Amino acid sequence: MTYSQTRWSLADLFPGFDSPELEAGFDKVEEQVTSFEGVRGKLKPEMDVEQFLDVIRASEETTRIVNKLYSFAGLSFAADTQDQAAQTLMGRIEQFAAEMQNRTLFFSLWWKDVDDQNAKRLMDAAGDYRYYLEEMRHFKPHTLSEPEEKILNLKNVTGASALNTLYDSITNRYVFKFEVNGEVKEMTAGELQTYRNSIDPDERARSYQEQFRAFSADGQILGQMYQALVRDWHNENVSLRKFPSAISARNLGNDIPDEAVNALLDVARKNVKLFQRYFKIKARQLGVVKLRRYDIYAPVAKAEKKFEFDAAAQMVFEAFGSFDPKIAELARRVFDQNHLDGEIRKGKDSGAFCWSVVPDMTPYVLLSYQGRARDVTTMAHELGHAIHAMLAEHHTTFTFHSSLPLAETASTFGEMMLTDKLLSEETDDAVRRDILFKQMDDAYATIMRQSYFAIFEKQAHEMIRNNASVDEISAAYFENLKEQFGDAVELSDEFKWEWISIPHIYHTPFYVYAYAFGQLLVFSLYQQFKIEGESFKPKYLKILSAGGSEAPAKILADAGIDIRSAKFWQGGFDVLEKLISELEKLK
Ligand SMILES: [Zn+2]
Repeated sequence: MTYSQTRWSLADLFPGFDSPELEAGFDKVEEQVTSFEGVRGKLKPEMDVEQFLDVIRASEETTRIVNKLYSFAGLSFAADTQDQAAQTLMGRIEQFAAEMQNRTLFFSLWWKDVDDQNAKRLMDAAGDYRYYLEEMRHFKPHTLSEPEEKILNLKNVTGASALNTLYDSITNRYVFKFEVNGEVKEMTAGELQTYRNSIDPDERARSYQEQFRAFSADGQILGQMYQALVRDWHNENVSLRKFPSAISARNLGNDIPDEAVNALLDVARKNVKLFQRYFKIKARQLGVVKLRRYDIYAPVAKAEKKFEFDAAAQMVFEAFGSFDPKIAELARRVFDQNHLDGEIRKGKDSGAFCWSVVPDMTPYVLLSYQGRARDVTTMAHELGHAIHAMLAEHHTTFTFHSSLPLAETASTFGEMMLTDKLLSEETDDAVRRDILFKQMDDAYATIMRQSYFAIFEKQAHEMIRNNASVDEISAAYFENLKEQFGDAVELSDEFKWEWISIPHIYHTPFYVYAYAFGQLLVFSLYQQFKIEGESFKPKYLKILSAGGSEAPAKILADAGIDIRSAKFWQGGFDVLEKLISELEKLK
């Protein structure tokens, strides 16, 4: 069977925007929520197991329909962002889902309040719903009394949340001026940032300089906002909710033990020289003595080789099939059911993603396939996500979706399988270079850069509690960069303002390490696969088929992996070390 680059079909969800089936979906949810509200009075800690499970099943049924409605709107919008009907439906479903959520909120509040003994009795009988129920209760020890929670909620609206909105408002209205071909243009941040990948060294430098010009002009104000947000985080999470440290509050949300996060960040720091070695290779490749910070995402190779769409698909099947034929079969299913949109069209979302709706439906994949080697690896990546969801199809709607720390496992692993295949077959050095450098650029951006952000956040939170000024924080950030880049990269002074341009550290403190966690985890797994061969395969498939039905640490422990151990994380860096050695060998 040959596959062509076409648009997907959403017929498995709904026939169309004006279809009676779509309206019936909204009506059905409304009806079910009304009936769900009726159980409110029947919720009792000592309630009968079957009665309790009926409530959970009803809530799952509603979630399934909402997921389908939401997916139809979201996927239609991604397929054509200019489509008015899709835009309108998106707005409608978002509003609708929020209203329905508010009407059913009482359940999770009640559930968190149930005493431990009865909660255990109900969870023990809940089968695959157990982890979903357990996770809701994780925050119980850090939950305050109802009036206190209400005050926090109200004060957040005008406090932390308002500060974050102000941060967005200030930074989103920056207009950047940038000269291209002798003409000065006004640009958004997104447009400006594309010049970081320019072939022209001067454009790369000016792109960063213009961005930090705008941010540093407001440096003191944006820095003050950060100080206030950090104090707020500490006041709420450490002083009131009694988390042992600022980062612990985030770790619990990710359901990762503190020791595992510490081990990850320590090992990253120990391997800092690895990427410095990479940046030296990259400098040589670009024909400069030393890389400037502006150059780290500069393109190195101009590989002309193109891969036809069908040939790419067959390559992915082969790479997956050599691991396990079942995996290749699942990847084929996405194409055979016409759930993959690979076409390049105006107005289509320019990114790539995999979207899983409900456990028993083949996920949807969107790509804008351009035929470069990196487009083939992207195809493998997104199909990896789809396979992850399909392997977990026996779980409930609440538990089939992998949790954040494990979300990139199958995708990155799939990408590695394909990269290995490409590298083993490719004789053209330029193509090999393109593949390897892309892999390393991505690894830097997800592993080392994000780990050092997290390291900085820990330090900044500590400093602010000790009344550090904005300039002192900037100086600490610059030291953080110096440690990260060593003598391999030349840093210019304006990078001390980079931290105030990172929205994540304002909006979701300590979120960034999850990226490093996921990526490094896969490199470690891949290393184990290389060593163990066949005996690794069932363990790996078991990790994927667990979906989100257990805590990440438990799923991995069952496969013999201890995420608290430094040795495990080092295995991930060892894979990168091999890649760097490959690159050093290239002419
Ligand atoms: Zn991904």
